[in-house]
Amino acid sequence: MAPDFTLDAHDSETAARAGRLQTGHGEVLTPAFMPVGTQASVKTLTPDELIAAGADILLANTYHLYLRPGVETVRGMGGLHRFMSWPRAILTDSGGFQVLSLSELRKVGARGVEFRSHLDGSRHMIAPEDAIRIQDGLGTDIAMSFDEPVELPAPAEAIRVAVDRTVDWARRGLDERRRLRDEGRGVMALFGINQGGVDAAERRRCFESLGGMPFDGFALGGLWVGEARALSLEMVERDVAMFPAERPRYLMGVGHPVDVIEAVARGVDMFDCVLPTRNARRGTVFISTGRLVVKNAAYANDPRPLDPACDCYTCRRFSRGYLRHLFTAGEILGMRLASIHAVSHMIGLARDARAAIIEGRFQAFRAAFLTRFQSGELLSPASVPVRRGSPGVTESASGFPRSGPRGSTEEMLDDVE
Ligand SMILES: [Zn+2]
Repeated sequence: MAPDFTLDAHDSETAARAGRLQTGHGEVLTPAFMPVGTQASVKTLTPDELIAAGADILLANTYHLYLRPGVETVRGMGGLHRFMSWPRAILTDSGGFQVLSLSELRKVGARGVEFRSHLDGSRHMIAPEDAIRIQDGLGTDIAMSFDEPVELPAPAEAIRVAVDRTVDWARRGLDERRRLRDEGRGVMALFGINQGGVDAAERRRCFESLGGMPFDGFALGGLWVGEARALSLEMVERDVAMFPAERPRYLMGVGHPVDVIEAVARGVDMFDCVLPTRNARRGTVFISTGRLVVKNAAYANDPRPLDPACDCYTCRRFSRGYLRHLFTAGEILGMRLASIHAVSHMIGLARDARAAIIEGRFQAFRAAFLTRFQSGELLSPASVPVRRGSPGVTESASGFPRSGPRGSTEEMLDDVE
């Protein structure tokens, strides 16, 4: 069953659109940011915390789960949703990118990819058909076609060969899903991945073939791998102009707030990226006014939340000073709280963009977002003045000053408890 993708609104001034993607595990509102749960876990966060952050879809990684714990284990445990206790949608990437970036001694041939596990050196062979069967075995809602990304910069010939292979593997992947469906399986959606690096002619040539195949959605692959932002965005514009309007469009591996909003303006519906949560675990988060390195000593006495404009659990309850302390002390809670903010912030950004598109004010939203993000406001540390006569004692441990709409009595009670 192909996922049902409904477009709710189009922006009149840009290519931005708001939609809803129906999956076997609920509806995904687009534009959507997908937190990354590489090994069936969004690092440090529970499913309940992800749901509270607004996530309606997660990304999991085929390469990692295939190597450990193995697809048969996941299937035996009732599939990925049950295994990780995640009730909402899951998209799995096909593993092509990880084979390229993580494994040793890989050999790419017409049949597929031969490689050694980065975990124990064991030898494996994944053909495009295997990638589809593995994703079906995991029980994903949206599978990705097995592709061959190219490490840029690459000679034109290497890009051409990778595009030919990506197209051939895309066709074989679709054939495999048809065989699975003949066996009563393969209900998952399958997205094709457009490749060609930053060579516009090769991307066009790739999509001339892919576009004729019955994929349920299309992804933009091989971008944001070191090239200039303007060039990446140009490739997005060109790809989206070729992609069918009625299918979802997914920009892989992109999660900087500015890139997300700029790609939404160019008609992209879905995003994923490890960057927000990876940075968060290292004490750096994006907030509405830029990038905040909360582990810095300058924030040691800052009573404000990470982002006064954010209403996530972390920003409702904790100060920058406390987070800074947790990072300095090596407390795991610091990573968890920063990750909660990071995920909430990115999902919230996509949701805000969606609301702006639906309400016909996306252009104004985009301009205001960019101005604010580049302003650097709120990034300079503030500190609590120390009262004379009570050295080192702040007035209220539980009620640090906060602005924002959520300063309710109920929360103060929670704080006391
Ligand atoms: Zn927050």
